[in-house]
Amino acid sequence: MKKVVKFGGSSLASAEQFKKVGRIIRKEESRRYVVPSAPGKRTSKDTKVTDMLYSCYNLAAIGDEYEEEFEEQLSAIRARYDEIIHGLNLSVCLDEEFKIIRTNFCKKIGRDYAASRGEYLNGILMANYLGYEFIDAAEVIFFDEEGNFDGEKTNEILSARLDETERAVIPGFYGSMPDGRVKTFSRGGSDITGSIVAKAVKADMYENWTDVSGFLIADPRIIKNPKAIDVITYRELRELSYMGATVLHEDAIFPVRREGIPINIRNTNSPEDKGTLIVEGTCRKPRFVITGIAGKKDFASITVEKAMMNSEVGFCKKVLEVFDENDISIEHMPSGIDTMTIFVHQDEFEEKEQKVIAGIHRRVEPDFLDLESDLALIAVVGRGMRATRGTSGRIFSALAHANVNVKMIDQGSSELNIIIGVRNHDFETAVEAIYDIFVNTML
Ligand code: ASP
Repeated sequence: MKKVVKFGGSSLASAEQFKKVGRIIRKEESRRYVVPSAPGKRTSKDTKVTDMLYSCYNLAAIGDEYEEEFEEQLSAIRARYDEIIHGLNLSVCLDEEFKIIRTNFCKKIGRDYAASRGEYLNGILMANYLGYEFIDAAEVIFFDEEGNFDGEKTNEILSARLDETERAVIPGFYGSMPDGRVKTFSRGGSDITGSIVAKAVKADMYENWTDVSGFLIADPRIIKNPKAIDVITYRELRELSYMGATVLHEDAIFPVRREGIPINIRNTNSPEDKGTLIVEGTCRKPRFVITGIAGKKDFASITVEKAMMNSEVGFCKKVLEVFDENDISIEHMPSGIDTMTIFVHQDEFEEKEQKVIAGIHRRVEPDFLDLESDLALIAVVGRGMRATRGTSGRIFSALAHANVNVKMIDQGSSELNIIIGVRNHDFETAVEAIYDIFVNTML
């Protein structure tokens, strides 16, 4: 049995947290490949090392006038690592590393390099603490000339390297470009590294350790103590993450998805919890009809109405071209016989609104154009919906009882999700009503 274990920033924020991580890793022989993030926040007011590195680099990039602040910031970063070194009695000394980092910052080597040092240094400490081999991610994770992740080259080199390594620490978040420059993934990208490593070693499991006991059915800022999701499929997860549920970086599922490697979200502060298992498919019945609810506020809708629009070939295409030309991405597009409605992100749309209206008038000469703003979209997701009658009936009667007016309904033919549009100010009430009817009444 081979497991890749990735630990997020809050799991590695202090020596105390490192000890918990050490206990978790040592508990199972199979936890052979470790992917650490940079030290995160110790308290809610704390700053992540990655953010400290970005601001430190900004000071270096502005130049000499901020030398003092730069030195202070660099020392503050160093202090974060020293606290861990002393707290764990490690035998490493980071003098040389910080000398190199300082020189490179002053040479203005690049923001990505700067940010990557958070994971790099944490990887060195972790390897020392565990007695595992340290492998610099720049030597095994690759990007192409355009800066896109090069999966093929990475998999070839990384799997060959790990084949001959019994136990290793590979820092998350970064890799290198063909010219050797360091490049990072987007924020939270250590999750992706973990997934890449899991694929390379053909792991039986990718454990992603964080500070929550898995995915929750609904946002805990809206629902008090929501239940956790036991098992979720990749497709369900994708729907929920897209609509705002964040625990795992969205791109982290791609490397393992086709390999049949499950991802297990676990809680470093509560290791006895089983967490959420993310799988390609499952015949296990979900505990509730719905797997999760997620949503986002601040959408605008544009309704285009024209008599006989349905029989006009290419009508929708022409309308969509207007959005395309204005570089506005479309979220949803429910339609009627003589109407089509387009949902877009309000902030993206607002500044281009008049151009879009003019464009639609010119292209399709609508009878009527209606704009609405301050709308929220809620996704109710669940593989269990397919086999259950009356799911949408329950959703809408729950919303009616809660006095929520439904502005839009969109059910994909996969029956995996139902998207509901409501006013921004009804958003929380709507999520509560849906959670209540599917979860609370079933307990
Ligand atoms: N340290 C990076 C960040 O804060 C990457 C990660 O933690 O995954 O975004």
